[in-house]
Amino acid sequence: MNEAFLKAVPVLEKIEAAGYEAYFVGGSVRDYILGKKIADVDIAASATPEEVKTIFSKTLDVGIEHGTVVVLYNGVPYEITTFRTEAEYLDFRRPSEVQFIRSLEEDLKRRDFTMNAIAMDKEGQLIDPFNGRGAIEEKIICTVGHPAERFTEDALRMMRAVRFFSQLAFEIEKTTYDALAFLAHLLENIAVERKLAEFEKLLAGICRMKALKIIGKTGLFNHLPQMSGFQKELMSAAEYNAAGLTVEEMWAFLACIFKLDESQAGAFFKSWKLPVKKTKKILSIIKWIRYRDKSKWDAYSLYQAGSSSLNAERVRNVIVNEDLSKGTDILMSQYKSLPIKERSELQLTGDNLMDWFGKPPGPWIKAEIEKTEKAVLQGELNNSIESIREWLIKCNQK
Ligand code: ATP
Ligand code: MG
Repeated sequence: MNEAFLKAVPVLEKIEAAGYEAYFVGGSVRDYILGKKIADVDIAASATPEEVKTIFSKTLDVGIEHGTVVVLYNGVPYEITTFRTEAEYLDFRRPSEVQFIRSLEEDLKRRDFTMNAIAMDKEGQLIDPFNGRGAIEEKIICTVGHPAERFTEDALRMMRAVRFFSQLAFEIEKTTYDALAFLAHLLENIAVERKLAEFEKLLAGICRMKALKIIGKTGLFNHLPQMSGFQKELMSAAEYNAAGLTVEEMWAFLACIFKLDESQAGAFFKSWKLPVKKTKKILSIIKWIRYRDKSKWDAYSLYQAGSSSLNAERVRNVIVNEDLSKGTDILMSQYKSLPIKERSELQLTGDNLMDWFGKPPGPWIKAEIEKTEKAVLQGELNNSIESIREWLIKCNQK
């Protein structure tokens, strides 16, 4: 076992000492078998949340109704989920109610894919009733049980299948894949927030371009926010080499290959419920890609674009089939040598202007500041208050 698990063994031991069963489960066991770095160690136990809370002194209620409590042990948070079944599924999404059970095997059975349905005990022994290990070795994503049934229970699993394809570079098993195409419409029942979480993991995965192609090919795109109509574009994604792009850059890339104008792009990100700040950043990247389609960078545009200049250049390189980092070194050094990088660095304020010209506040202030900014950036003027004052007075005498 690796360190993350070893550190968590005492948590299993404490639960067992109280008379319950406890195992490592889910993504951490899968990633461990894969030899990947483990993000979070998840634990499943036969104890109910209330019982778990009596065993540990520090706990946080995060999703008691789904059977999850977070235990803080030696400063590390562990999600402990009670063995459960999801007896009844309504509306093709997560059940409204979960049933706690005392059997590990039943708990593993309700999990989505065989690779995610493996438990590991404190000695490192695997409990693997669905041969998830075999699936991992063969690099195959297949559902626990019949795919159509499992996707009908919770349609989000279809998005999860494609995001795991993207993250792990595994193949999707044939009947599982066929069920995606057949049941894509059930995604309509899934909340945007849940789709977004999976889609962003897809966008961050190593096989994201091929994953986008699957989204296009299976028809899943028809049931994702404002994606219908872009099948051809999604299918063509696999022709681009986007290795290295960040998730924000990937969103900008999508908006560009979909040929969305600014307001369409705004509406697109809103429909995905992306946070406002993130949307602003992505829109800025898109804006500067458009700029670069027509013009070269100069001091003023670099100053205005800020860090989006580099993002825009990278995305544009992907779109025009250039090397991702082509020209970015020069861009960075150009950016570094700007005399000012933010308005706050300009040695001029509105108060200075009102003071020097004896005029009340108004739109003229913005105009004077922009004019000065430009002159400083173009190297026509020193960024010192004396030179700026002299220059502005001279300009206004003309
Ligand atoms: P990641 O490494 O991205 O966290 P993960 O496999 O741990 O991947 P989570 O969303 O954290 O994914 O879920 C933890 C585990 O819970 C999964 O491995 C799986 O066993 C189970 N699970 C999660 N979502 C579902 C679902 N919609 N249906 C069935 N089982 C699920
Ligand atoms: Mg996880």
